[in-house]
Amino acid sequence: MEAVPPTCWRGDYQLTPALTETALAVEGGRHAAPELDLGWCVLPTVHGGPHYAVVRDLCGLVVWIKWLGPLAELVVLPDCRRTDGCGLFAGHPGVCSR
Ligand SMILES: [Zn+2]
Ligand SMILES: [Zn+2]
Repeated sequence: MEAVPPTCWRGDYQLTPALTETALAVEGGRHAAPELDLGWCVLPTVHGGPHYAVVRDLCGLVVWIKWLGPLAELVVLPDCRRTDGCGLFAGHPGVCSR
């Protein structure tokens, strides 16, 4: 059995009202989530940052919050296509999430 890779699971970011508004204003596809879905850093590695957490699923694209300490920004990144069902973004470090 393969060992399950470690996951960062950090969630110490501040989603300000301005960032919330911006994330909701991003135009997504027909199946884009109407609400935010705040998560933890899902990178499959224990690392020093920057950390990435899902903020809103746009269907094929995801709004991520990228942060390190008090500095945070929103980024829109395409889904990883390296492995079927990987829940991370294209070009992510480490192994795929599934
Ligand atoms: Zn992290
Ligand atoms: Zn992947």
